Amino acid sequence: MRVGIIGGGAAGLASAYELVRHGHGAVVYERATFLGGQASTFTVGGARLERGYHHLFTSDVDMVWLIREVGLGQRLAWLPSKVGLFYGGRIWDFTTPTHLLRFTPLTLPQRLRLGLATLYLQRYRNWRALESSTASQRLPRLVGQRPYETVWEPLLRGKFGRHYQEVGMAWFWGKIALRFASRGRWMTRERLGYPMGSFGEVFDIVGERIRKRGGQVHLATAVRRVLVEEGRAVGLEVESPDGVRQEAFDAVIATVPSFIFPRLVPALPPSYLERLTGVTYLSAVLLVLVLRRPLSPIYWLNIADRSIPFVAVIEHTNYIPPEHYGGKHIVYLSNYLDREDPLARMGHHALLEVYLPHLRRINPAFDPSWIEESYYHREDAAQPVIGTGYSRRIPHHRTPIKGLYLANTTQIYPEDRGTNYSVRLGRKVARMLLKDYGLPVEGSLPRPAIPDGITSAETW
Ligand SMILES: Cc1cc2nc3c(=O)[nH]c(=O)nc-3n(C[C@H](O)[C@H](O)[C@H](O)COP(=O)(O)OP(=O)(O)OC[C@H]3O[C@@H](n4cnc5c(N)ncnc54)[C@H](O)[C@@H]3O)c2cc1C
Repeated sequence: MRVGIIGGGAAGLASAYELVRHGHGAVVYERATFLGGQASTFTVGGARLERGYHHLFTSDVDMVWLIREVGLGQRLAWLPSKVGLFYGGRIWDFTTPTHLLRFTPLTLPQRLRLGLATLYLQRYRNWRALESSTASQRLPRLVGQRPYETVWEPLLRGKFGRHYQEVGMAWFWGKIALRFASRGRWMTRERLGYPMGSFGEVFDIVGERIRKRGGQVHLATAVRRVLVEEGRAVGLEVESPDGVRQEAFDAVIATVPSFIFPRLVPALPPSYLERLTGVTYLSAVLLVLVLRRPLSPIYWLNIADRSIPFVAVIEHTNYIPPEHYGGKHIVYLSNYLDREDPLARMGHHALLEVYLPHLRRINPAFDPSWIEESYYHREDAAQPVIGTGYSRRIPHHRTPIKGLYLANTTQIYPEDRGTNYSVRLGRKVARMLLKDYGLPVEGSLPRPAIPDGITSAETW
């Protein structure tokens, strides 16, 4: 069996690795000059750093499996994180439940209700019963109007912009259930995982292991078209600096976003196309500041203040020590935006000018002279907006073209997208393909945190 794989991110590499582990041929085509897709890295202070902030939760069992499988288990650190909320002109620490009790913008009964509702959601299991309502309908009833407007609504707005009222309650539940699973039994301080050589190193080593087992990984090689004959995928047309060529395959796994996939496969029928185009993606727009001094004491600071033009400040070096990056302090200013949003269309320096005056609100001592370097990254497939009743609208992995499979982040549900679930999807689809071709499949995938989730099921 020889399978062509489109995309060298977490899903593409995991599917190729699963195929070569089973003794089959896998050829990965990645259009960028590096592996890792959304979890790829660049260099800061002599170390590799993700283009967009990355960490793991303790529930990320598939990613932990992959890291150990390629021999990097020793390099996976579980470090405490510090979470905060910028509200009413100041930073509120939200690292432990006691901090919630000290959040005086809400009355004590409101704080207690918010805390208990969060505990309830964390323990709740029947997520399918939540599918018919949006988070913005359900949450005010659960936590109360004012706690919702003060804490949860700004977070939903931050992640989904003008689409925040479309987000399904089942998605929100998944986010809470998994996020709080990273805390101890009594919701104590959470620990987050980081591969100390970076996520980029993990995916580079997965690429090496694929090659060692006889697979191929081609960088700077974009797939232009899936070749289809009599309703069956038979190969790929690819373009690299050497030119355009066609390669024959027994089957194809595509891991590209749903807005790219139809361009590669014009023969898709409208019923399947509808499922692809039915999901809106938001772009992540990131400014990475390399500072002389720390900006705040918090790792992950959510901004619940709509007069500030970014939605989160992630101070990476309050999680991984600055010594790892030559003593530099690294801060991401993050936004999730429609591709057409004026902020998403701004370039690096224009955006920096818009953002800079607001940093003094986070830390009044901040001075622009603290900035040694800054970088701009934008990822258009960053966040699919997952609405209500999504289990009935999710695109199937088996496409209407025989031998052509899709594994992308719109098929992660009810969990939020993440490297863990892309690894799971990649492996799951590779195993599904082998079963479809009557070939043996060994072992099983790690036990997931949401056992009856759609992403967790091995076939559907
Ligand atoms: C800002 C940000 C923060 C995040 N934080 C976290 C985090 O803390 N923890 C976590 O686990 N996850 C995080 N994620 C999510 C995680 O990075 C993604 O869910 C995951 O990496 C997606 O992997 P993928 O393989 O499904 O998709 P992608 O990474 O998007 O891979 C698809 C690949 O296909 C390639 N491609 C596209 N078209 C073609 C073509 N025609 N030919 C060849 N190649 C093509 C792309 O270049 C890309 O490399 C974050 C994402 C973002 C944007």
